[in-house]
Amino acid sequence: MSGSALIVGGGAAGMFCAVCLARGGVECTVIEKNSSTGKKMMITGKGRCNVTNNCDVDTVIKNIPRNPKFMYSALYNFSPKDTMKFFEDLGVELKTERGNRVFPVSDKAATIVNALQHEMKRLGVRVLKENVKDIALKDGAKIVTTDKDTHCTQNVVIATGGKSYPATGSTGDGYILAQKLGHTVTDVAPALVPLTTKGSEAAQMMGLSLKNVTLSLTDIKKNKTLYKEMGEMLFTHFGISGPLTLSASSHIQTMEKDRYFADIDLKPALSKEQLDARILRDFSQEKNRDIANSLGRLLPSSMIPVIIKRSGIPPETKVNSVTKEQRARLVDLLKCFRLYIDGFRPIEEAIITRGGVNVKEIDPKTMQSKLCQGVYFIGEVLDVDAYTGGFNLQTAFSTAYACAESIKNYGG
Ligand SMILES: Cc1cc2nc3c(=O)[nH]c(=O)nc-3n(C[C@H](O)[C@H](O)[C@H](O)COP(=O)(O)OP(=O)(O)OC[C@H]3O[C@@H](n4cnc5c(N)ncnc54)[C@H](O)[C@@H]3O)c2cc1C
Repeated sequence: MSGSALIVGGGAAGMFCAVCLARGGVECTVIEKNSSTGKKMMITGKGRCNVTNNCDVDTVIKNIPRNPKFMYSALYNFSPKDTMKFFEDLGVELKTERGNRVFPVSDKAATIVNALQHEMKRLGVRVLKENVKDIALKDGAKIVTTDKDTHCTQNVVIATGGKSYPATGSTGDGYILAQKLGHTVTDVAPALVPLTTKGSEAAQMMGLSLKNVTLSLTDIKKNKTLYKEMGEMLFTHFGISGPLTLSASSHIQTMEKDRYFADIDLKPALSKEQLDARILRDFSQEKNRDIANSLGRLLPSSMIPVIIKRSGIPPETKVNSVTKEQRARLVDLLKCFRLYIDGFRPIEEAIITRGGVNVKEIDPKTMQSKLCQGVYFIGEVLDVDAYTGGFNLQTAFSTAYACAESIKNYGG
């Protein structure tokens, strides 16, 4: 059955939904407040767009910490394999990298965005550059008011995204629209976000990027390691950032001061004994040097004063007079450099938003509101978030597909 639909938001979910609807013969309009669609998509994956993860559905579910069950049906009906086929059918060549992350071969997010934009154009999807201010229900129809006009439609799809990176257009408007329609919105908080740490040590090492280190995050209250992974991280003026930190942050459900610490293993490939032997070897080559000048082969220069200070070894100590105990302290620090977490950086700096439209009020098979017939919510506006690896865009596509199928089949 064909009908009409108006999609509020021309981001990942909105554009994808428009293509699916138009292919099914539904007359479809996207309303986007930016001057172009897909602005956030353009900066995904550091401008390369990690478009999905080449894994099975159960693995995707394991990578969704918030409301994974809600996503079962949508993911089984539109899986990562379907996403890959969708883009390949549009002529986009894809490649799978470490961690099954899928990128366009071009290494350009624009390839993905252009593919969606061209397909919308080919199918005759209308794109209006307007800012939606209100949605009202009247005799079964939906009246959508923008800064420029009023539109009447059978089905309205809210695809306004979350609240992070507001310069891309996602400023949380969808939450207000949802509340006006009677929906509840769970508390929104940053996820996949840099972390602030106690003290000034991180600031002293600002700009230092560490590769092949292990970061583990511990919840002191629960006495539990929440996250442990090897990879890349970064020190900043406020604390820590980089891929490992962003992933770790997603495991913090409730941020409380003094509740979490991060341990960095700077030499994960070496046991304590091996590391001690390595230090002894380095020291034997420069017996009369100050310790502060003899760690250059082991540590980046901006880290040396911080480590020396923590170790309590006077910096002018000659390496040949470093005691076994002092060396043991050094080894302990290199294997476990602990930083206490102070808080999240603001939501504006988060990759995604945790919280959103309460999924209890949404039909997981169709993404239709259980409160207002013909109103749908897709993508990040929903209270669903995932870890890094292409899982958030997959969530956007799967929810968009579920919604489009429902409107195509029953929404006329
Ligand atoms: C820096 C960064 C990198 C990321 N990298 C990845 C990655 O590599 N892989 C991955 O899976 N995920 C990544 N994400 C997350 C991913 O981008 C989002 O989860 C995804 O874009 C959500 O899609 P969406 O359509 O729900 O929302 P968005 O893509 O945010 O789209 C929402 C759209 O709605 C429009 N809009 C909002 N309000 C209104 C209104 N009132 N009227 C009209 N239009 C409106 C906005 O302008 C916007 O264009 C990244 C996010 C960031 C910030």
